[in-house]
Amino acid sequence: TEAALFQAQKMQAVGQLAGGIAHDFNNVLQAVLGGIGLIRRRAGNAEAIQRLSGMVEEAARRGESITRRLLAFSRREELRATVLDVGALLTGLREVLAATLGGRIRVRADVPPDLPPLLADRGQLETVLVNLATNARDAMPGGGTLTLCAEAVRIEAEARGLKPGDYLLLRIADTGEGMSPDVLARAAEPFFTTKPLGQGTGLGLAMAQGFAQGSGGAMAIESRPGEGTVISLWLPAAQAEEAASPPPVPAPARPEA
Ligand code: ADP
Repeated sequence: TEAALFQAQKMQAVGQLAGGIAHDFNNVLQAVLGGIGLIRRRAGNAEAIQRLSGMVEEAARRGESITRRLLAFSRREELRATVLDVGALLTGLREVLAATLGGRIRVRADVPPDLPPLLADRGQLETVLVNLATNARDAMPGGGTLTLCAEAVRIEAEARGLKPGDYLLLRIADTGEGMSPDVLARAAEPFFTTKPLGQGTGLGLAMAQGFAQGSGGAMAIESRPGEGTVISLWLPAAQAEEAASPPPVPAPARPEA
């Protein structure tokens, strides 16, 4: 639809701009980091200078982490869709998240056994899911449950920009703080964040939405303050032919001359 196209163009422009700024800003940060390193070395054991320059260094490192994420966002690679077993992907991810999100967060995967295969870019899907899981963790500082689930759905009439057809509906649900209506309204805007500087880039949901739409699917957010948040991703199921004959493996790269 026109709105989706406009959103995609806007995202691309934002991405290019972000990439340019991130690149220039990173050069500034490298100068700050280099200078502060020299000052620390010359200061010997002047305690106050060591402490203050340590603070400056830490701030510059936080800036570096922001520019790194912005660059990753602007260099969004082409989507390379392959046929995926989403059940296996989610159960694998459940294990990784259970081990990395911290003991106060319970991670569940709820996947029926006979899901149809999915057609999507595996690497980018994993990045999106990890970003959404990180948001869920941030929303549950006191602990809670993160649930990953998937089900097959058939869309009969065009809705949410989805063409009629077969989809997999992936849901990432948390029992966290939820969002107020005004945060919810803006949550998927690029660069919208409520997190402190250095912790949020405001790109997680924008990227998730761009990924879903670019894959021929859609994203929706439901959230209630004090109850939690559910992010829904509809992604196209692989057609029978695609599932039977996965796309050819690209030819190996030519050896370096
Ligand atoms: P970031 O996480 O860097 O802030 P996002 O685009 O991923 O960027 O999220 C934008 C904002 O939406 C967050 O700052 C937060 O306020 C809100 N948000 C996102 N996910 C959740 C969630 N699971 N629970 C509560 N609020 C959320």
